[in-house]
Amino acid sequence: MFIDSHAHLEGKRYDADRAEVLARAKQNGIEAYLAIGNGEGPATADCAIHLAEKYDGQAEYPRIWASIGIHPHEASLADEAADAQMLQWARHPKVIAWGEIGLDYFYDHSPREIQKTVFLRQMELAQAAKLPIIIHCRPSDNSENAWEDCLALIQEHWSASGFGGILHCFTGSVDHARRALDMGFMISFAGNITFPKAQPIRDAAQMVPLDRMLIETDSPYLAPIPHRGQRNEPAFVKEVARKIGELRGVPAEEIGTQTAQNFYKFFGLAPDASNTAV
Ligand SMILES: [Zn+2]
Ligand SMILES: [Zn+2]
Repeated sequence: MFIDSHAHLEGKRYDADRAEVLARAKQNGIEAYLAIGNGEGPATADCAIHLAEKYDGQAEYPRIWASIGIHPHEASLADEAADAQMLQWARHPKVIAWGEIGLDYFYDHSPREIQKTVFLRQMELAQAAKLPIIIHCRPSDNSENAWEDCLALIQEHWSASGFGGILHCFTGSVDHARRALDMGFMISFAGNITFPKAQPIRDAAQMVPLDRMLIETDSPYLAPIPHRGQRNEPAFVKEVARKIGELRGVPAEEIGTQTAQNFYKFFGLAPDASNTAV
């Protein structure tokens, strides 16, 4: 059993075969996934809710939960009306997290000062909604700039809330992981852990305690080896578990079971068929 803690399946790239992708996940032992609700900006941040409404609760598909939030790429599109709308959506019973939110200094699709302002505001909204946050953090090349800013903002404006969070698609150093763990965060590893140049990610995956890690695909991006370069899908999360298992000397299935239990525990969900938060 495996849970993909982070995927974007609402885009056009799945329009032709979304139901088959979900069925294939279930056939491969993926029993649930968290649908990330960024859409193409705040106006479509309910995309994950729609996916959960359409496919959750059917035996041939994984269970589906949803998040909402403004990705740093679209920070420039944030405004007060969007904030109010998202607080509304956050009350939907399938919504269990606020994100992904954070800082992206690699693409700089929105100016960094706006990214920071919007990140702070998203943390305020998440706190009002009593939801944990999912963090996207990507520094510019050969730099730790975004990590320094991101961890400092979390420390100052979020850690005291007690709602915790997830560093998704972790690409930082062992030290960054340690600082996040100290603030009660979970660390989620993605398919890039299988890439030859990703030794720092593998170092972190050996250090993070097994009860503090999650696995994800970040579909459609970052398909793991041996699917690298293809469109990613939740079934491939097994490759992430396989790689972590290799690093830690345990079977992939054990990594799958442990990270699935971590997911349920972190979100306060019952690991049975009831599909509802407890
Ligand atoms: Zn991300
Ligand atoms: Zn993502």
